[in-house]
Formats: sequence, C-alpha cells, structure tokens
Amino acid sequence: MPDPAQHRGVNDADRLAEIEQRLRQQVAACTLMLNDLEILGYSGHVSARLPGGDTFLIQSFDQSRAELRPEMLLVCDLDGKMLSGPPGQRPPAEVFLHCELLRARPDVNSAAHFHHDRTTVFTLVQDVKLVAIKNHAVRWASGIPVHEDPSHLNTPERGRALAGTLGPHHAALIRAHGQVVVAEDIPGLLIDCVHFVENAEAMYDASLLGAVRPLTESEIALFLQDLKRDKHVPKLWNYYVGRARARGVLPQDWVL
Ligand SMILES: [Zn+2]
Repeated sequence: MPDPAQHRGVNDADRLAEIEQRLRQQVAACTLMLNDLEILGYSGHVSARLPGGDTFLIQSFDQSRAELRPEMLLVCDLDGKMLSGPPGQRPPAEVFLHCELLRARPDVNSAAHFHHDRTTVFTLVQDVKLVAIKNHAVRWASGIPVHEDPSHLNTPERGRALAGTLGPHHAALIRAHGQVVVAEDIPGLLIDCVHFVENAEAMYDASLLGAVRPLTESEIALFLQDLKRDKHVPKLWNYYVGRARARGVLPQDWVL
C-alpha cells in the first residue's frame, strides 16, 4: 500500500514542477512580447519569483531577448547566485536589482528592467517630471520616483539602493539609464510595462503641443474606483498573447 505521506510529497513535487514550467513559459513569453513591442531591447530582463519565495527565474547575460525559450532560463537565489541553468550561462550583470526588489517587496512576484529611450528622456532634463496623464497610468498615482545614480545595478549595494528608491511604488526611473516595473505576477507586469511606456510616450507627445494637463487627484480616484485589475489584466494579456502568436513571436503550444 503506498505511503500517503510519500504520495503527498510526489504530488507536491509534481505541482511545484507544473508551476515552475508555467512560470518559465510566462517569463519567456513576456520577454519576447516586450521585445516585439520594442519596450525591452537587447539587455533588459524579466524575473518571476518561484514558489518558496527566495529563488526566481531570469534570463542569462548572453541569451538573445528575441529568441528566449523557457528551458533557457536560470534559477537564481536572492544573492544573485545561479542555482541552475544551461551549461556555460551566467546571470545578467544587473541581476542584483531583481534580488533586492524581490527581497524588499513580498507583495512583488515579478520585475522588469529595461532601457526604453523615450521614457528615459524624462530623467535627462531639468524640472520635467513624468506623471500620470493617461487613465491607465493611475497605477502610478502614488508617484514615479527617480533613482539619481545612473550606474549599472551590478552589485547588491546598488540593488538595495534602487529598492530604497522604489519604496512602496510600482515603477521607478533610473536617471540616464532606464526603468524598473514591479507587479504581482507576469501578466500584470506585462500590462504595466505597456501602460508605463504608453503614458511616457503620450506625455512626451503632448508636451510638444503645449502645456501638459496631468490627471487631477479626483480624476485618479474615480478611475481607480472603476478599474478592475482582475478583469483588465487578463483581457490585455490575452490580447497581447494572441497578437504575438499571430505575428509568429510566440509558439502556439505554450500554456499562458
Ligand atoms: Zn540597466
């Protein structure tokens, strides 16, 4: 007769393997879609926390963001050490920003770092601050902090400093460098990256026409009241997955 405890252990192991496989497909898909949308380029990355809380999936330093596959991802710990991954691969130099954001924010399970030029512009001029001007940018109503140190986030100290700048917010700009966006899961992260860049581009375009009118506090409060993130995120995730499949960016058989 099978030992029930052992049997439960096997089921748990199977369930964890299934969760990891799903997350691997989501991280690879999110990276490919952000690359196809020209939000993330040759050196950005997406991470996802694994069950247990202190390890995460991330792509390697060298692998192309345009050709990522689930099996190429690395498992790293919160000190930036690679625990498993394809032979010869190593974590990205800026793995520490993911380590320290995930360590500092238990509510965050996914993070993206990218270097989107039109968005970075808002850190390059005096007295111009990126604010929420489009309705879906209410996600950043609490503020979009700017990390003043433009350095590569390639040490734990620099990662911790960035986590300190981000604080309780959902995105931050890194001066003359790029952006970080954090979310509760990979679909939420993709949609936030899309809306974050959309808002920055809209503000840039609007500023060419005249004085920018940010959303007022009462407009933000009303939109937040109406917004159903649990409906909005799956709707847009399905749209972007479908778009990417139709464009041949994503394989048809990934479970997303
Ligand atoms: Zn960077």
